[in-house]
Amino acid sequence: MHHMYAPHVRRHAVSLLDSGLSQTDVNRQTGINRSTLRVWAQDRSLLDKYQDTDLCPRCEPVPRPPAPAHAYSYLLGLYLGDGCISPAGDPRKKVWRLRIACDDKWPGLIDECEEAMSAVRPDHKVGRTRAPGCTMVNGYWKHWPCVFPQHAPGKKHERRIVLDPWQQEIVDEHPGRFVRGLMHSDGSRGLNRIARRDGQGFYEYPRYLFANTSREIVGLMTATLDRLEIPWKSHTKRQPGVLSQAAVSISRKAAVARMDAFVGPKY
Ligand SMILES: [Zn+2]
Repeated sequence: MHHMYAPHVRRHAVSLLDSGLSQTDVNRQTGINRSTLRVWAQDRSLLDKYQDTDLCPRCEPVPRPPAPAHAYSYLLGLYLGDGCISPAGDPRKKVWRLRIACDDKWPGLIDECEEAMSAVRPDHKVGRTRAPGCTMVNGYWKHWPCVFPQHAPGKKHERRIVLDPWQQEIVDEHPGRFVRGLMHSDGSRGLNRIARRDGQGFYEYPRYLFANTSREIVGLMTATLDRLEIPWKSHTKRQPGVLSQAAVSISRKAAVARMDAFVGPKY
């Protein structure tokens, strides 16, 4: 079982790596396993957010990984697609706001997002704010950046998105929930229409599409589909003047049926 670590522990470990110590040395000194150190060496996004003096109270004395795991796995998918974390109000209070943008076309998905966020952040009201064409579901917590260490300034497609080993374990436990979250943010289940070879009209079949400007987020999707043994096909959309997107489709009949069991159409 991989542990979750407090931000100051992470920052200290990375500073040891930066000083020239090997991962083995840092492992011996801190007890942090090497697979975690490997991810941290690649992903420095958490490092500047906390000063040494302002430890997250939820991470004292020992960080508590988010629970319940099935709600977190789904929320992680939504967060990677449509979420952002920013300081809420007075920055000295060190409270963060997690916002997930939900399309107004799918009221059921707004409710489901709110339920998942409330489950991960219990005893605290999760709110909604209106924006043009969408509803922001938001919750306030000092612990959000620890729960989503992928948080950093800048656009997700311009930086590394690597899951911490404890996050990967949760995704491995609940892969369908993670795929559902990703699909609900950046995917769709639609009908693909193909002209018949004999020219007699069209035939249609359902398929799932998922597209994101971050190749690493698409990579997380395909790795999880592989784990579920659901076949997928890669597409890359390129249009002049438009940011290129990596995309995957799931269109084999049996694969669509399996996806329907834990994703289904948006509602
Ligand atoms: Zn924390």
